[in-house]
Formats: sequence, C-alpha cells, structure tokens
Amino acid sequence: MEYKNKIVIVGAGVAGVNAATKLVDNGYPGELITIIDMGKSPYERKPEEVMTGFLGAGGWSDGKLTYHTAIGGHLSKYCGEEKAMELMDQVITNFKRFHPKPEEVQCSNPEAEPDFIKPYFGLRLFPVWHVGTDYLHEIGKNWYDYLVSKGVKFEWEAKVTAIDFENQTGTVTVPQSDLEHPFEYDRLIFGVGKSGIDFGKQLAEKYYLPTEPKPVQIGVRFEAPQHHFQKLIDVSYDFKLYRKFEDKGVSLRSFCTNNNAAYVAVEETYGDHSYNGHAKKDEAYRNDMTNFGILMEIQGIDDPFTWSRELVEKVQAHGTGLYYSPSRKPSTTSEGDNVSAHQIDWMGLQVVAEYFQGYFEYISDFIGDMKKVFPTLEDDWGIYIPEVKYLSPEPLVNYSDLSLVTYPNVHFVGDALSARGITVSGAQGTYVAEDILKL
Ligand SMILES: Cc1cc2nc3c(=O)[nH]c(=O)nc-3n(C[C@H](O)[C@H](O)[C@H](O)COP(=O)(O)OP(=O)(O)OC[C@H]3O[C@@H](n4cnc5c(N)ncnc54)[C@H](O)[C@@H]3O)c2cc1C
Repeated sequence: MEYKNKIVIVGAGVAGVNAATKLVDNGYPGELITIIDMGKSPYERKPEEVMTGFLGAGGWSDGKLTYHTAIGGHLSKYCGEEKAMELMDQVITNFKRFHPKPEEVQCSNPEAEPDFIKPYFGLRLFPVWHVGTDYLHEIGKNWYDYLVSKGVKFEWEAKVTAIDFENQTGTVTVPQSDLEHPFEYDRLIFGVGKSGIDFGKQLAEKYYLPTEPKPVQIGVRFEAPQHHFQKLIDVSYDFKLYRKFEDKGVSLRSFCTNNNAAYVAVEETYGDHSYNGHAKKDEAYRNDMTNFGILMEIQGIDDPFTWSRELVEKVQAHGTGLYYSPSRKPSTTSEGDNVSAHQIDWMGLQVVAEYFQGYFEYISDFIGDMKKVFPTLEDDWGIYIPEVKYLSPEPLVNYSDLSLVTYPNVHFVGDALSARGITVSGAQGTYVAEDILKL
C-alpha cells in the first residue's frame, strides 16, 4: 500500500510515540510523520522536566505499566475488552523492546484480597509490569534513536499554539526565540497529555466540540516509611485500596503506590503545585519510603473542572502546595532537594478541610482507618496537598478510531482524551495508528 498522508503528532508523549512506532513498524514512511513537542529530546531532558519531552510524563514517571482494563482510564469502552488487552500488550512489548535489560522488567500479579484489610478497605487486584524510572531514561534514548532511524522528524522545544481544524494547519511557537512557523497535516494526532490540558480545552471551546462530562478527582499524596505497609506490599506491590460511598456519590482509592526508592514529585499545572510520586529501581536511591495518592472521585459537582482548579488554587502558600504531618517533615526528591511544600499545622489543616467543602472528612477517615489496619503507622506519616487529576471534559470521539465526531482526521489520544496512565495512553495511540494503516 502506498501511504501519502502527512501525519502530525502533537506531543511526543507515551501516546504519540506509540502511535508513531506502530506506523513505522508497519511500513508507514517515517518521512511523512512529524512529532512536535514543547519539551526536549531524551538526550537533553533534565530530571526536573517531569511533564514534557520524549515519552512525556511517562518518560520520567514510575514506569509502572498497569495491565487491566479497569485501571488507567478508558480503553475497552472504545474497542472492547479483548482488543484493549491486545493493545496494552503491544505497549508493554515496546517498553521491553527498547529496555537495556528487558529481563529485569517484572510483573506482579496479586491473586486474593488479604483478610487483614477487611472490613475497612477493598483491594483492586490487577497485574503491573515494573520498568523503573531510571531505566525509562535509557528506554527513551533507544526508542527515539529507532524512530529517527526510520525517518520520523521531531521538533523539540516547539509549542503548538494554534490548530485550524477547518484548514488542517497549525502554528508552532518556539519559546526560546519567539519565532513562529506554520505546519500542515492530513491527519493530526493530538496527544498533549496533562501538560497540554489547557490547549485541549481552548480547542474544545473554539470549535464547540461536543464533550462527555467528567467527575472531580482530587485528594492528597500520602507518604510514610515503607515498613508500616510491608505486609500489604508483599501481597500487592502497587496496591490499590478503595472504598465507595455510593449514596454520597464519592469513592476513594489509593493511587499510584511507590515503594523502596519512592519520591514525591511536584507537578505544575496552571501555575499551581500539586503532587504525584515516582520510584527509582536503582538501589542507590533506596529510601525505604512508600507514597501514594488518596484520590476521591466526586460525582454531581457542576463544572467539576473549575471546582477542582479553584480548590487547587486555594491550597497553595508561598508559591507551592502544602504539607501536613503530625510528626514528620517533607522528604527530599531523588536529587536530594527538599520537596517543594509549605508545612502547615493542625489549625492549617482545618482551613484546608473547609476549602474541600466537607469532602476532606473522607480523606481523614481513610487515614484513620489505615492506622487501624496498619497499627505501627500511628502518627508516622505526612500528606502533600493537593493531588489532582484534572479531567477536562472529554471530547466526543468516534469509537473506531478516536477521531473527533466533527473532524474525523483529528484523533485525540492519551491523557488528552480519557486515559490516566501509560499503558492506556500508549494503547490509544496504537489504536489510532492501526486505523491509519488500514487506509
Ligand atoms: C510523576 C509522574 C509519575 C507517573 N507514574 C505513572 C506510572 O507509574 N504508571 C502510569 O501508568 N502512569 C503514570 N503517570 C501518568 C502517565 O505518565 C501519563 O498518564 C501518560 O504519560 C500520558 O501519556 P500522554 O501521551 O497522553 O501524555 P504525556 O506523556 O504527558 O505527553 C504529552 C506530551 O505533549 C507535550 N505537549 C503538551 N502540550 C504541547 C503543545 N501545545 N505543543 C507541543 N507539545 C506539547 C508535552 O511536552 C509532553 O511531552 C505518572 C505521571 C507523573 C507526572
């Protein structure tokens, strides 16, 4: 088949990179593919550039590849369970393929809920492949070299600032020089991740894109010495505790658990700080800490996006997020710097609780019940406030190829659509590429 369409991928994140890989692996000419990213190549990217550059947020993440259709955002709703698993397999295979030591990628697969967490919590059971942040850097370089060798063109430190869906053109601004240049496309893959969420929202407003509403997802990043949780970690490395209050429209889950060499990471969105976490595989970084998000999903709030943003804005002080602990201080990053957070006392926490408009009680109860299930925990923990997943209204797409219902040559993928993790984001990119290859 002779492929002629010029493909522009906005965002060299997990979704965009997997899409490009699927295309060139199957004979699509790399010369027809351009990937534009406001971050840097894997050779230039600095550790503090958490969200941007080759492999996007996934490139500096904890490298935990979840392997279940109920985790990491929506996939099976578009393509069905069986296809979703097959697409996730392809993403995991890519991470192993470019891994310098693929034999070290391991899968944990817990099989039963342990009795000691009942009746306080449920435990989500699902397999996870562990790649490790430090290997991700090497994976990124190998993967990038492969795509370049196939002719794929990259534009780094180049921000797409406008897209004209009607005329199939766009504008790239190079912040370093303030210079602009246009681009044209036949097919556009829009994979800007969380760092581009504002841009996605602007486009949705400009083109009146029909959207699906999303709930609020907000909470805190919890951190404590690992030994308190070891009994559960032995059952499930990336444990996901959950509980539901269906009558109140609230559910809580522990999210993205990091152990052994576990560090809290600051995310910057809309100029505010929020928190996430990552873990290193290299023993040199071992700090024997555990961190995870305690995230609430709240249904029934009008304009959940604005509600979350306003709350995040309020729980900032001195240009950063907040930290509360009955006994501890904020930790350091893997680079040895203090995690940016303003420490508050118990009174300060009561003010935070007010900002959460009654919902903070669910988090306090969650922590209170963890103290019962993990009795050594007592006051030996801290929380970074807030952790937030901005789920901007999801554009309505055609389920067969994730293209906008109103612009069928524009495909939304990854966190810009409905994903919340590496495997699902990569799988969505692969799904779109498979459709393009059919032409
Ligand atoms: C600290 C941290 C740890 C994480 N750990 C895990 C984990 O262990 N497991 C997991 O499954 N998920 C994890 N995640 C989430 C995961 O990284 C994301 O879900 C995934 O990377 C999303 O992929 P994506 O391709 O949609 O977007 P991203 O990977 O975020 O990539 C988007 C890319 O688009 C670029 N971009 C944005 N706007 C523009 C623009 N206007 N012009 C040009 N380029 C633009 C950005 O520079 C970026 O490179 C973590 C996230 C963070 C921040």
